[in-house]
Amino acid sequence: TMTTGGLPLDASKLKIVNKSTPSKPRPNDELVFGQTFTDHMLTIEWTKAKGWDVPEIKPYGNLSLDPSACVFHYAFELFEGLKAYKTSDNKITLFRPDMNMKRMNKSAARICLPTFDSDQLIALIGKLIEQDKHLVPEGKGYSLYIRPTLIGTTAGLGVSTPDRALLYVLTSPVGPYYKTGFKAVKLEATDYATRAWPGGVGDKKLGANYAPCILPQLEAAKRGYQQNLWLFGPEKYITEVGTMNVFFAFKNSKTGKKELVTAPLDGTILEGVTRDSVLSLARENLDPNEWEVNERYYSINEVAEKAEKGELLEAFGSGTAAVVSPIKEIGWQGKDINVPLLPGEQSGPLTKKVAQWIADIQYGRKTKDNWSRV
Ligand code: PMP
Repeated sequence: TMTTGGLPLDASKLKIVNKSTPSKPRPNDELVFGQTFTDHMLTIEWTKAKGWDVPEIKPYGNLSLDPSACVFHYAFELFEGLKAYKTSDNKITLFRPDMNMKRMNKSAARICLPTFDSDQLIALIGKLIEQDKHLVPEGKGYSLYIRPTLIGTTAGLGVSTPDRALLYVLTSPVGPYYKTGFKAVKLEATDYATRAWPGGVGDKKLGANYAPCILPQLEAAKRGYQQNLWLFGPEKYITEVGTMNVFFAFKNSKTGKKELVTAPLDGTILEGVTRDSVLSLARENLDPNEWEVNERYYSINEVAEKAEKGELLEAFGSGTAAVVSPIKEIGWQGKDINVPLLPGEQSGPLTKKVAQWIADIQYGRKTKDNWSRV
């Protein structure tokens, strides 16, 4: 149990105020990522004097905050993103929520916002989903996106530790990121702007990490690329993509051995839940005589050289929103590195397999290590 002092977060105190008329579910094909929300939200206030107040589920609606609240001036804000899935046996399950709660507490601790007992917030999120369960979409690629958010609400312009905070949770029915299945993306390898650095906060899910990344994304879009592939340092190490971690598959043409590689957790990349899941499943399912699975530093130059020699097999991003997102091209120094795809398809064979392994667990066709929580 992790708490900051005062009363701990207590799910058993929950108060529920129902929306008078529940809304009807939207047809699946009208769902746009993060644009529609369910009928209710969860809010919990915290004060330094008393600790966590009574959790409330109430109709979705505006917040009322003092305009001098520290969230607006000094970015005391962090968030999480996870999903609930309607399984084939009609349960609603959260995918690895303990990982998100752990990360949320780490983000909170880093910017002096209150921490909380993870199990209590998972229980409360469960109640929130139950309240709006008729709005959880069903079907391949459909899910309920959950957005826990924590903000500092102390009024006043002094730069100091917040003594008031608000934790709230929104839920949004979402469809597959790309309606027609996979759609391979083009990335621009970016070295003129830096997303995160050693000793910084790139491994925390702070809102302040995201706003500065939009301008480089617009720059990349002007040149025809959907996302930035963030490089770091004079070595041009590959770190991550927009809102995804990134994996590359190589083949050593001398030994024939294949390698699945992603950047190590050194504090400069987000510790993605999907990244962790891909690594576990790859280590479990790939034949070790054929594949090595490595977390190591590797650079865009290494990728460019391997592509040149025909040793670049595949590349894909991993994140809660798109789950697995194949990459087809990487712009670097005025040229494009081409990533091979299966003929007539939008991904390579490993990318496809990885996506299937994860989907099987998320939609309840398979189980693994308590990853799904009813
Ligand atoms: N990196 C960044 C910067 C992100 O915002 C996200 C999305 N949370 C990820 C990686 C992927 O993390 P996860 O698999 O936990 O969604």
